[in-house]
Amino acid sequence: MALELFDSKAQELRAFTPITPGHVSMYVCGPTVQSAPHLGHLRSALVYDILQRWLSASGHEVTMVRNVTDIDDKVLVNAGNRDWREFAKEVEAKFDDAYAKLSLREPTHKPHATEHIDDMVALVQKLIKLGHAYQAADGSANVFFDTASWPRYGELTNQKLENMEGETDASHGRKSPNDFALFKAHKPEEPETAAWKTPWGLARPGWHIECSAMAKHFLGESFDIHGGGLDLRFPHHENELAQSSAAGDSFANFWLHNALVTINGNKMSKSLGNGVSVEQLTEAGSWGAIRYWLSSAQYRSNLDYSESSIRDAQAALDRIVGFLKRTTNTRRVEVDFDFIPLEFKEAMDSDLNVPGALAVIHERVRAGNTAFDGKDEAKLSECVEQVKAMMAVLGLTFAYQEPLYTEEFSKQVEDLIQKRHEAKMAKDFARADEIRVELEELGVTLNDMKDITMWSFNG
Ligand SMILES: [Zn+2]
Repeated sequence: MALELFDSKAQELRAFTPITPGHVSMYVCGPTVQSAPHLGHLRSALVYDILQRWLSASGHEVTMVRNVTDIDDKVLVNAGNRDWREFAKEVEAKFDDAYAKLSLREPTHKPHATEHIDDMVALVQKLIKLGHAYQAADGSANVFFDTASWPRYGELTNQKLENMEGETDASHGRKSPNDFALFKAHKPEEPETAAWKTPWGLARPGWHIECSAMAKHFLGESFDIHGGGLDLRFPHHENELAQSSAAGDSFANFWLHNALVTINGNKMSKSLGNGVSVEQLTEAGSWGAIRYWLSSAQYRSNLDYSESSIRDAQAALDRIVGFLKRTTNTRRVEVDFDFIPLEFKEAMDSDLNVPGALAVIHERVRAGNTAFDGKDEAKLSECVEQVKAMMAVLGLTFAYQEPLYTEEFSKQVEDLIQKRHEAKMAKDFARADEIRVELEELGVTLNDMKDITMWSFNG
């Protein structure tokens, strides 16, 4: 079976084939850096990190773009009296910090909206030329997308233009309340640094246009996968698709949308006071446990947070990590994806069924523990390699790689084990016992298998 993904535009599972064989191009809507990340941001970024890892593990080269919206109404408002650019950088650093702690891979490109104003201007000029955008009738630098000129408008979310409500504030020179801003005229009360010279006057970009322009800049007129949270489907992604296709680009081949995070079954919102802070999470468990929990629901299902979520995830993760620590002599980093079990592949290929994939890991851990107790070295070694490969695909390797001891220590232990083995061969059991005691004093527990001796460090 090959990878199937749920294309939310087609509203069905489709077999995934990249446009260029062996190479996958992905665009994921990144954060608007207006306030610190919440659980929804972390989950969304993680979903596409796992997809990227699975595509890589299945032999694809992946180019991933995740943008940063560093100019926006809310960035300017939340910056207050501060320089909005400095404020935006500070918030971006909070996102980067959380992403790094969750062990997310760096995207191939991480463009900022403010770095691509020229690309956006070029795209808007093209839309105007083709009759799909217009400068406001009031002569301001407001530029709008002309939804009435684009019969396909609404195709992503399967809506008809005549049934849409549009912006309640239909002014600023719009022809229709459904028309959305491509560029927003500079307002005198806004800082001058937040305005760029455009052919229509001083203005800043609307939100949607940046993703169309940056996706084209890095991935070209068509690419494989566009990802983002369900909350971005309308209007953001609908508008991205309208802009890009009206400009003649085929844009994304697959649209993926991840569901949201709920808190005790309720929608997460600041007004309800149910937002969960990063501090609350780290008090309940490690970053490995947080990552484990965030990936534990299939991405199209809501993920519900409750008081015990992280604790339970930590317990589940500890069972896996405990097995690896008990049975792995050295913290060998190399992972061989050939060891990935078929059931795990099938789960991941089935629209990224991560809960199913986690179940396979736990099943292999149980089999490995049985092999360990039964001194079945071949079986044990296979289970260890399988678990390591699967953990790597899910990006959980960091959860068991905190350096517990140095390489020198590891070598010292291996040497002592070798000497103990030699003493036993020479029937010098007193000497062999002395060495075992010496190792115990170093915090090392020995497990004699049939042919080899395994050790673990309880440091
Ligand atoms: Zn976007």
